[in-house]
Amino acid sequence: MAKPGSADRADGAADRMWWRALNDASAGRVVLPEVEPLVREHLRWHPHADAALLRRAHAVAHHLHDGQLRKSGEPYITHPRAVATILAELGMDTATLVAALLHDTVEDTPFTIGQLRADFGDEVAVMVDGVTKLDRSMYGEAAAGETFRKMVLAAAADLRVLLIKLADRVHNLRTLRFQPPHKQRKIAQGTRDLLIPFAERLGVYHLKRELDDLCFEFLEPEAYRATVAARDTARAQDRSELDGVVEHLRAVLAEFRVKADVLVKERHLHSIHSSRGGDLANLDPFAISRISVVVKRDDYRDCYIALGAIHGLWRPLPARFKDFIAVPKYNLYRALHTVVVHSSGRVFDVLVRTAAEYRVSEFGLIAYVADATSADGRRAVTHRPDLEWLRRLLAWQGQADAQDLLAGVRTDLGPDSMVTFTREGDLVTLPKGATPLDFAYTVAPELGDGYMGALVDGRLVSVSTPLRDGSKVEILTGGDSGPSESWLTFVKTGQARVGITRRLARRRLEETAAHGRTRVAAELLDRGIDLIEVESSGVATAVARRLGYPDLDALYAAVGTENVDLGDLVTALLAPR
Ligand code: MN
Repeated sequence: MAKPGSADRADGAADRMWWRALNDASAGRVVLPEVEPLVREHLRWHPHADAALLRRAHAVAHHLHDGQLRKSGEPYITHPRAVATILAELGMDTATLVAALLHDTVEDTPFTIGQLRADFGDEVAVMVDGVTKLDRSMYGEAAAGETFRKMVLAAAADLRVLLIKLADRVHNLRTLRFQPPHKQRKIAQGTRDLLIPFAERLGVYHLKRELDDLCFEFLEPEAYRATVAARDTARAQDRSELDGVVEHLRAVLAEFRVKADVLVKERHLHSIHSSRGGDLANLDPFAISRISVVVKRDDYRDCYIALGAIHGLWRPLPARFKDFIAVPKYNLYRALHTVVVHSSGRVFDVLVRTAAEYRVSEFGLIAYVADATSADGRRAVTHRPDLEWLRRLLAWQGQADAQDLLAGVRTDLGPDSMVTFTREGDLVTLPKGATPLDFAYTVAPELGDGYMGALVDGRLVSVSTPLRDGSKVEILTGGDSGPSESWLTFVKTGQARVGITRRLARRRLEETAAHGRTRVAAELLDRGIDLIEVESSGVATAVARRLGYPDLDALYAAVGTENVDLGDLVTALLAPR
């Protein structure tokens, strides 16, 4: 059917028919059987969900996108329906699925946010608006830093916006082969740079793995194909040794009275490739697998008992053991990771988690959204104190220049992080190589601004000393020691970079202002007039305002940089009012 505002602008009758059809869809009078698999999946998770609302949203989206095609030649509606299905399979709430179905309507059709709000309510409208704004910045000319800023802001408003964006990207990558090659690379690279770090931060490993592999396929096609071939060869090999390990472990866990499932999980392709540094020679069933122990009792003690059993069976590689239960990762992931050596000399990974944490460790934040009713779900995703990284990003993103923000966020979201502690024992996660200054600015901007020195594990260290994993750090403040340009050469976090740059700029302004003021004072003195009098009478401030400067310092700084002519200014200051 013809769309209003297109070639048929003059044709009022067609417009009216189009809007009437939209009304029918919006009122639930349109029956489209293709939405039913989505409805069934959603009801499987949420038996009392409002299926009619989902059908209505689908019918509206179907009508709005009518006549549009994907690059694959399929009707456009297949895309929002697939995005909603990805989210339904994760158990997301109804409002998120409705927003997913409608996520491209405001951008690509005559539908407005106002109409959307009237039809589907505020919650859905906020999400669609968030996704639309993200899309504009991702495909527009805005710098990557700006895009990042928008992602952070969208996440702050409602993390479900980011989840929709992730599912949207998963489907776009699944159908990326229909795009021209230069676009394939651009979209895959953008996903790797901007979206995968967020997927990891949100703990949504289920989607992150698929995104990893899709980006791998388009960015490193040769390595990707080689990895597929090597994996297939490994799959075809005799698995009896690996099965023996699993049987052995089951028996020993039973002896230790730990009720647990022991499963073999295949690594995803990108992980197979990167975990061996790209060396694909002699891959065997152990190399492409991880053994996953899921203890049934919701008690971490069972995890440690299981770990003891595992380390009793096989020698662990100490440097590879990670305790994400006692020292949690920056996201919601809680598990024990160990790498052990089999008697055959083969090395393999074992993960130990509780069944209750298993869902969280796979789906991250989504585990909370799906379990909550809509209102609680919203709170669950917007006010999570354990998502400290998000709180921190929000705290400083407003002051950062877009380029700094991007650089900072990339480091902050990078995979190499360490854990340090405040004197009170609070965790502070920092990128590897971070210094006491990074620590100070991460904890609080005032601490960074007032930085005088640092005690690391009780010893005074220099400002550029890299901190070590597990350090306890105490920041000493007071005095007037910083900042210095050289600090920018060794800090690792965006927070520190932004804080130092801001203070340097402030100090430069003060110095320039002092210099400008001296020149004004000297010029006035030549005429027998005291600047202090001109200032205290209020005349100087009035002149500054009239010339468009917020205060006297800004005016003096302009004199210092010769943006204001000294002679003109003196004339203005002496002019009779
Ligand atoms: Mn889309």
